[in-house]
Amino acid sequence: MPRFLILVATLVMSCATPASATDADPLVAAILGETPLIDDLRTLTDEIGGRPDGSDANAAAVEWALERFREAGVTARKEAFRMPMRWLERSASAQVRGDVHFSARVAAMPYSTPTATGGLTVALVDAGKGTPAEIEGLGARAKGAFLLVETPMLEDIPGLFREYMDAAATEARAIEVGVAGVVYVGSRPRNVLYRQIAALGTDNTRPMLVMERSNGMRALRLLRQGKKLELHVEVDLDTGPAYESHNVVAEIPGRELPNEFVVIGAHLDSWGLGTGALDNGCNVALVIDIARQMQRLGLRPRRTIRFALFNGEEHGLHGSWGYVITHADELDDTVMASSYDIGSGRITGFFTGGRAELLDAVERALEPVRGLGPFHNIDIPIVGTDNFDFMMEGVGNLVANQESANYGPNYHAGTDTFDKVDQHQLRLNAAIAAAVTYNFAEMEVDWKRQTRAEIEDLVESTDLGAQMRTFHMFDAWEKGERGRKD
Ligand SMILES: [Zn+2]
Repeated sequence: MPRFLILVATLVMSCATPASATDADPLVAAILGETPLIDDLRTLTDEIGGRPDGSDANAAAVEWALERFREAGVTARKEAFRMPMRWLERSASAQVRGDVHFSARVAAMPYSTPTATGGLTVALVDAGKGTPAEIEGLGARAKGAFLLVETPMLEDIPGLFREYMDAAATEARAIEVGVAGVVYVGSRPRNVLYRQIAALGTDNTRPMLVMERSNGMRALRLLRQGKKLELHVEVDLDTGPAYESHNVVAEIPGRELPNEFVVIGAHLDSWGLGTGALDNGCNVALVIDIARQMQRLGLRPRRTIRFALFNGEEHGLHGSWGYVITHADELDDTVMASSYDIGSGRITGFFTGGRAELLDAVERALEPVRGLGPFHNIDIPIVGTDNFDFMMEGVGNLVANQESANYGPNYHAGTDTFDKVDQHQLRLNAAIAAAVTYNFAEMEVDWKRQTRAEIEDLVESTDLGAQMRTFHMFDAWEKGERGRKD
């Protein structure tokens, strides 16, 4: 290009007015074009790998994310928050002994306790599906034993919520009757191991395991034939006291209302059996790419957009909790916080958190990407990802609802790797997320942060309280440790 044309082009670009008030089209177009979205996902998952909070890989992921924002010219920083304890598995093994002997691959559930040197050998008993009646039916045999619990195969997102709910009920009952520990028959296909956090979180006091499905079912059949079995377990952990971890928070300042905020978030940490591609590397890459394309195009919506890569999500939503503590003074002016955390299945709409006033806003925000729908928004509160503490602080929050796709079978599992991500759909999802984020940063807002009384009403008038109990979040709310104060 001749020199003077470059000058003209530069002038035209620098004089160009910002995109019109609700026009996210250039951003959507950029994201649907060629961007480093997939490259980012590949380096995060293949090169850094699984990144449980407290691990070296997790610290590397934090630096990686900072560097991605810096390369894009987007201001970003590390923000410290407190993790309640360090929990990493070094190794876990198990042998079925007694009338029949065989080894079985196991994974320790997060916040499982370790076993003493030499391991632990106790009776293994058939707890059926772990219902209260089945556990009560074991009578004295449950005391001091490992309960072996049959689980249905996990296929989709509703199945995943059932798995968490069933586990919470099973573990509560099992602890009441004094078991040594609980062993779940793996619910993922092809003997894949995975981590599912113990229902009591850091309050858990027993070894809790998942056993590969084939051998778990074999042990159950043997027990049902009247064989006497014991389980020998060795669990070696890397544990420690509370420590400081970091979120990565990037920002594009608003042009008119720089002190009002829209947050788009995904979590950087993962469990370490796979490489955390569906959960949640793909949505980390999505968040970074939206920031990068906005910066590249020089887009400045009215409000400030915060691009939050939360850490410590898997251990109990600690990074997003840390965010609301660090940014307590800004929560009155945070108009919306969104979370993307269900892999790369098609975004079918948003959960609006039991706040009907957000439904119309989401509809308007989706306008530029209507062709990627249909969208169906659902006005219920959702517990299980990083919207939680925003919701309990009364901040308008969205969780992207997505088709289950292959999320369930690979959830927290050794198979959650780069090749499972639907690259095409991830890009379409990024376009949807970009439109929603940009438009919330532009639009007129007619809702406010909820008061404590309104949040209490939400807990009581929906199944929010039940969900909080399932995820061991209710106590912290009741004690006033989490959620908006009076
Ligand atoms: Zn996740």
